[in-house]
Amino acid sequence: MYLSSIEVQGFKSFAAKTRIQFIPPTGGRQGVTAIVGPNGSGKSNIADAIRWVLGEQSLKIIRGKKSEDVIFGGSDKKSRMGYAEVTLTLNNEDGTIKPAESDDDHPMDYSEIAITRRVYRDGEGEYLLNGSRVRLVDIQLLLARAHFAEKSYTVVGQGMIDHMLMATSAERKSFFDEAAGIKEFQIKRHQTVLKLNATRENLHESRMLLSEIEPRLQSLTRQVKRLEKRDEVESELHTAYIQYYGGQWVRIQEQLTRMSVERDHIAIEQKALQTAYDAAFAQLRTMEVHETKNDIYSQLQQEYDAVHRERTKLREEIIRLKNAIEVATVRATSQQKWAPLPLTKIITELEAIRDEVAHAQNERDLSILERFVKGVLGKVASLIERLQQPAPQQQPAAFVDTKAQAEIAELEKTLVLIEEKAIHLQERIASVSREEQEKKSAFFALQRELQDKQKQLHTTEQRASAIAVDLARIETRRDTLLEEIAREVPQYRAEIEAIPPEIARAVDVQALQQDVYRLRRQLELIGSIDPEVMKEYETTRERHEFLDAQVRDLDLAIAQLEKGIVELDAITTKRRTVAFAQINREFGRFFATLFNGGRAEIVEIRQTPKEQQANASEESGEPTDASAVDPTAETLVGIDIVASPPGKRVTDIAVLSGGEKALTSVALICAILSTNPSPFVVLDEVDAALDESNSVRFGAIIAELATQTQFVAITHNRATMEQAQLLYGVTMGEDGVSRVLSVRLEDAMARAAK
Ligand code: ATP
Repeated sequence: MYLSSIEVQGFKSFAAKTRIQFIPPTGGRQGVTAIVGPNGSGKSNIADAIRWVLGEQSLKIIRGKKSEDVIFGGSDKKSRMGYAEVTLTLNNEDGTIKPAESDDDHPMDYSEIAITRRVYRDGEGEYLLNGSRVRLVDIQLLLARAHFAEKSYTVVGQGMIDHMLMATSAERKSFFDEAAGIKEFQIKRHQTVLKLNATRENLHESRMLLSEIEPRLQSLTRQVKRLEKRDEVESELHTAYIQYYGGQWVRIQEQLTRMSVERDHIAIEQKALQTAYDAAFAQLRTMEVHETKNDIYSQLQQEYDAVHRERTKLREEIIRLKNAIEVATVRATSQQKWAPLPLTKIITELEAIRDEVAHAQNERDLSILERFVKGVLGKVASLIERLQQPAPQQQPAAFVDTKAQAEIAELEKTLVLIEEKAIHLQERIASVSREEQEKKSAFFALQRELQDKQKQLHTTEQRASAIAVDLARIETRRDTLLEEIAREVPQYRAEIEAIPPEIARAVDVQALQQDVYRLRRQLELIGSIDPEVMKEYETTRERHEFLDAQVRDLDLAIAQLEKGIVELDAITTKRRTVAFAQINREFGRFFATLFNGGRAEIVEIRQTPKEQQANASEESGEPTDASAVDPTAETLVGIDIVASPPGKRVTDIAVLSGGEKALTSVALICAILSTNPSPFVVLDEVDAALDESNSVRFGAIIAELATQTQFVAITHNRATMEQAQLLYGVTMGEDGVSRVLSVRLEDAMARAAK
C-alpha cells in the first residue's frame, strides 16, 4: 500500500482543484517526494490538507480558528469558495488494508481507497470512503488498520518537534501508543467502555424499573392468589349447592313417587274393599228379605200343633174309653178288693205325660201352652186318683166291653199313624230348625264380615287420608325447596334437578348444609376482587419477566464487555511492552547517530487506578473504570524522555539547546518510524533546524527508513531533497492561489543553494 495521490480543492490557498501524484515503491524502496517552494507559497497547506483529510479535529494543529478557515477565503482577484474538499487516494493493490468484519454488509473495492473530507461554510461536513458517506470513526478504524492515524507522526510538523519534547508525559504516551500500533485496540477499548457504560446505565434503569414494579407485582400476586382461592371456593360451593339441594330434591322426588304409588295402591285396595263390602251388604239384605219370607217353619209348627192336638185328643179318647172300661169293670167287680195299678201302666202314662211336656217345651204360643198345661195337670190328677184306688182285678173276658175295645184298637191304630206323623213333623221341624240355624249363623258370619270390611274400609280410609296429608306435606316441602333454590341459586336449578340419583342418595345433606355455610363465610372473608386485576397482573408479570430477563442479559453483556476490555488491555500491554523496548533501543541508536554519541531513553510512568483517579486532569485513553480492571494493578499513564548528548550529563530535555531538542525529537520520531513503520509520513520542515552535517546524517536516516516508509518531505534542505525521486514546486501567484508544478532536482537544488 502506498499513498498514490492527493487532490485538493478549495482548501486554504488551493482554490483550484490541484492534484499531486506520488510515486509507487521501486527497488525495495518506498517513494520519497520532496515539496519545495518559497515561504508562504502554501507548502504546509498540503501537510494540513493531509492531516485534515485523515480526520484531524484540532483546528489549532491545522492552523485555523474556525472550521471555515480551511476553505479558500478569496483574494483581490479570486472570490472565495463555498467548500473545501480533500481526497487522499491509497493504492492498496497489495492488500495491506484488509476489509473489516463489519464491511461484510457493505462490500467495498479495497484495491484503491479514496478518503474524502469535505466541509461547507455553514460548518456542515462529511467524510466519504470511495464516494460513500461514512462516519469519522470508520475512517479512524480504517487508518488504524493501515497502521497510520490522523494524529501525530504521520504528519510531523514544524511545531511538533518542540511540542513532542514539551508535551506532558500523558500526551507523549498517547503518541507512543500510536507508534506502538495499539491505537486500533484503544479505539476498540474506548468503544467497549462506552458500550459498557451504556449497558451499565441500561442495567441501572432496568433495575430501577424492576424495583418500581416489584411491590405492585407482589400486591397483584397476592390479589390473584385470592382470586384463585375465590374461584376454588366458588367451585367448591357450587358443588356443595348442587349436592345439598340435589340431595334434598331427589329425596323429595323419590318420596313423592313412593307415596303416590302407595296412594294409588290404597285407592285400588279401597275400591276392592268397597266392592266387597257392597256385595256383602247386598247379600245380607237378601238374607234379611229371605228371613221375613220364610214361613215353612211356622207352617210345620202349625201342622205339628194340629197333629199334636189330634194325638192328644186321640190319647184322651183312648184314656176315656179305657177309663170307661175300667169304670165298668170296677162296677162289675165292686166287691172285689182294691188292687194297685200295675207298674207298667203307671210308666206308660208317665211317659205319655213326659212326651207331652217335652213337646210343649218348643211351644211358643202361650194359649196353646196354657191349654196344654191344663191338660197335663188333669192327666196328672187323674193318675194320682187312680193310684189312690185299688186297681180293678183282672176281669174275666166276660166283663170286657168289646165295642169299646175295638174302638180303642181303632183309635190306637190312628194314634200310631198320628204319632208317626208327629215324629215325621218333629224331624222336619228339627231339620228346618237346623237349616234355619245354619242360615242364621251364615247371616251372623256375613254380618261380622261386613263389620270387618267396614273396619278395613275405615282403616284404609285413614291410611288414604294420612298419605294424602303426607303427600301434601312433602309437596309443600318441595315447593319450599324450589322457592329456596330460586332465591339462593336460580342459576343452578337445571343442574340441581339433573343430579344423578345415586350421588344424591349418598350425600349427607346436613353435613353439606354446614359446608355451604362455611364456604359462604369464606367467600365473604375473601371479599370482592376487581376483575381487571388479572389483566394488570398478566401485563405486570410479563413486564417483570421481560425486565428480569433484560437484567440477566445485561449482566451477561457487562461480564462479556468487561472480559473484552481485560483481553484488549492484555493485548495492548503486550504489544506496548514489545514496541516500547524496540523504540527505546532505536531511540538510543538514532540519538547516537545524530549526536555522534551520547545516550537517550524513554521512561515509563506507571500508576494504580486510584492514583489515576486522583490525577483526573490527565487525558488518557486508558481505563478510567476501576471495576473493569484489578484496582491494584499499575497501568502506564505517561512517558518521559531522558537524553544526554555526548559529553554532557543532561537528562532534563528542557535544558537542551533548540538544535539539540530538534535532533532529539528527530531521533525519537525516527525510532518510532523504524519500530512501527507508518506507511507514509509527511515531514514538514522537520530538518529546518539542522546544520549541514546533521542534515546529511538525517538524509541517511531518511534513506534507511524509506525502505519501509513512504516520505513526503516539505523542505528547504538539499540533503533531504537529494533523497527524493520526485520534486514538486509550490508557487503562489498574485491571485493568492497556490499552484503545484513538477521541478527538476537541479533547479530545486540551485534555488535551495541561493
Ligand atoms: P514557509 O515556507 O514559510 O513555511 P509555506 O509554503 O509553508 O511557507 P503556508 O504556510 O503553507 O506556506 O501557506 C501560507 C499561505 O497560505 C499564506 O499566504 C496564507 O495567506 C495562505 N492561506 C492560508 N489559509 C488560507 C485561506 N483560507 N484562504 C486563502 N489563503 C490562505
